[in-house]
This record gives sequence, C-alpha cells and structure tokens, in this order.
Amino acid sequence: METKNLTCIVCPLGCAITAQMQGGEIVSITGNTCKRGENYALAELTDPRRTLTTTMRVKGGGLVSVKSKDTLPKGKLLDCMTVINVWEAQTPIQIGDVVIKDILGLGVDIVATCRVKGV
Ligand code: SF4
Repeated sequence: METKNLTCIVCPLGCAITAQMQGGEIVSITGNTCKRGENYALAELTDPRRTLTTTMRVKGGGLVSVKSKDTLPKGKLLDCMTVINVWEAQTPIQIGDVVIKDILGLGVDIVATCRVKGV
C-alpha cells in the first residue's frame, strides 16, 4: 500500500488529504472536509492539471502577461512553455485576446492578461 499526502488547494482551509493507493488504484481518501476535496484528490492523482501563467514576447519589443484559458495537463506545461517562448504576440493586445489558439492541440487557448498598446 502506498500513501500519498496532498494539501487541498480548492479553498483557503487547505485540508491535509491522505490517499491510500494500491497497484495504481485509489483505495481510500481521507482528511478532506468536503466533497470538493475528494474531487480535487481524485483529479490530482489521476489527471493533474494546472493553469499556466507566464509572459510572452511582443513583436517589436516588450512582454505581455498571459495565461491558459483553462487548465492544462501538468505533464505538458514545459512543452507549452517551449511554444510560448518562440511566439511573439501582435499588438495592440487587449485583456482576454487569444495570443495562441489551441496550444499543442490540447484544446486550450493562451490569452493575454494585460493590455499592450501598438508600437
Ligand atoms: S477539502 Fe473542502 S474544506 Fe478542505 S480545503 Fe478542500 S475544499 Fe476546502
């Protein structure tokens, strides 16, 4: 039996969750105060995902802050960063503008989180 310890990040309470695993299967989840914590642990142990926040170069100079519009598979974050690092966003940029559509075919757009005027 393998024990995995997680801290639930769904709300500020930060419950300490313990999952018992056997042969890659989840046997039990304890320590969560509510159902959302159980769902978080299930997702974290089977398909961990993260919102990616970073900066991207702007054509003509400068940077724009960006984020993924939805969560991305944790194991694909570095590949996504590789793509973001070679792209340049076109100005003018408004908050929410899609700067990279469907990154790596994962069905998630990268969007601007700040405005950048044209150069
Ligand atoms: S288990 Fe529920 S109460 Fe505890 S941190 Fe997660 S969401 Fe909050």
